[in-house]
Amino acid sequence: MKLLEGKVAIITGASRGIGKGIAQVFAQHGADVAFTYSSSEGPALELEKELAGLGVKARAYKSNAASFQEAEDLVNRVLEDFGTIDVLVNNAGITKDNLLMRMSEADFDQVIETNLKSVFNMTKAVQRTLLKQRSGSIVNMSSVVGVKGNAGQANYAASKAGMIGFTKSMALELGSRNIRCNAVAPGFIETEMTAKLDEKTVQSWRDAIPLKRGGSPEDVANACLFLASDLSAYTTGQVLNVDGGMLT
Ligand code: NDP
Repeated sequence: MKLLEGKVAIITGASRGIGKGIAQVFAQHGADVAFTYSSSEGPALELEKELAGLGVKARAYKSNAASFQEAEDLVNRVLEDFGTIDVLVNNAGITKDNLLMRMSEADFDQVIETNLKSVFNMTKAVQRTLLKQRSGSIVNMSSVVGVKGNAGQANYAASKAGMIGFTKSMALELGSRNIRCNAVAPGFIETEMTAKLDEKTVQSWRDAIPLKRGGSPEDVANACLFLASDLSAYTTGQVLNVDGGMLT
């Protein structure tokens, strides 16, 4: 059964990693997919081709999610190209890890702007369309780190915790118009983001996971599929942990 047939989804940061996995799973389920990247043009264009090969409409857009104006321009272009928007996945994110003592103001600001302000930018830009059609699903990519904190990631944890507050507020604000807003909190997912970590850190993450493995982009994408589709029609304001039991 195709769960997103006839739906249009925007996914930020889908040139690689979790976002790419979401784009692939959504397209396999019949969604037309508009997705963004920051600098990886080659991989983004390859993914565009791959998704089109699945028989859906797919387009890659270079757009900085941290920029209010670029988010607004992106949504206008997607509306011109696709006609409507049903699903928004705010996935784009970065890390700039350091202990607070060594964390620069620029590293704090950049992480908050890319991970959290981007969610404001994109949600504000799509909300008019979703309100008009009186339906929609917004999925925000938070993290277990936003729930429990992490030494060396104060900027990242604050951005991901902020996303959860934003998600719950949108669920309350938009629920009466049949627009749902949920967050996904992945644990340790094996992507380029986590490949930057040293082996000792990676091993300690794995040891702490009841399922004793890191997750895959597809593990997270399947949770997003549930939240984006009508299977979760009565679910809003929730944080779905996809963490192998890490926070249990
Ligand atoms: P990656 O670093 O592998 O990919 C990040 C993606 O975001 C890329 O497509 C990148 O584009 C894009 N991106 C970065 N900055 C911007 C920007 N300013 N505007 C638009 N796009 C941007 O990360 P992951 O796939 O691992 O992570 C995806 C999301 O999941 C993030 O929000 C992350 O915080 C979250 N997450 C990840 C976990 C993990 O263990 N991996 C755990 C919990 C949460 P480009 O390729 O062009 O640089």
